[in-house]
Amino acid sequence: MSSVVSFDLDGTLWEFAPMMHGALELSIEALATRVPEIAAKLTVGDLHAHRAAVVETQEGTLGELRVASFIRALAEHGVDDPALAEWWAAELMRARVLAVEVHGDVLPAVERLRGDGRTVGVITNGNFPFAELDLASLFAFVVHAEDVGGAKPGPEPFAWALELGGGDPSSWVHVGDDLEIDVAGAQAFGMRGVWVNRHGLTATGEIVPDAEIASFDELPAAVDRLLR
Ligand SMILES: [Mg+2]
Repeated sequence: MSSVVSFDLDGTLWEFAPMMHGALELSIEALATRVPEIAAKLTVGDLHAHRAAVVETQEGTLGELRVASFIRALAEHGVDDPALAEWWAAELMRARVLAVEVHGDVLPAVERLRGDGRTVGVITNGNFPFAELDLASLFAFVVHAEDVGGAKPGPEPFAWALELGGGDPSSWVHVGDDLEIDVAGAQAFGMRGVWVNRHGLTATGEIVPDAEIASFDELPAAVDRLLR
């Protein structure tokens, strides 16, 4: 029977904060080609603050919230131009692909898993444009929680992934950095949950991962053990 290994993205295949910081910096550089006098006044910290403020008062997709935060950032400098904010947000998405640094242990592990006959895929609560990475060609499916009506740890993204990846939850391993969202979410769906703990965190609470790994170098063997 086919076996599947699915991966979280942010915090799992790469560190989220440096990726977003670098992408926001690049997006400010892009904005400088349109409104240099405003771009010169904006910092990454400002953009984080606008994004945080928007979440307090609005609901929407991650993309809509980002556009709203950029509308707010422009308005603070006297510019009312939603189309410019839309363009800027699209530049940020491009910049995320440029800024991301995929951990060096990801590609060897994914190639090894595929070599072992396993299907690999992605289940993310975020909106990183994964399909634009070269690496994406090795992955059989990508589930963005926003597209399927519910986020991890709820069942919707896992159910959708099962549709796309095939097989059965009992022959499925999900790998992620978040004990509740990834490990407990997968376990509740009948999958094995592997905790990738790159920073040596101490687990608190009740959740017990089926395996804990410090790097993806340990992943193929852990999957072998879990699916034996
Ligand atoms: Mg994560």
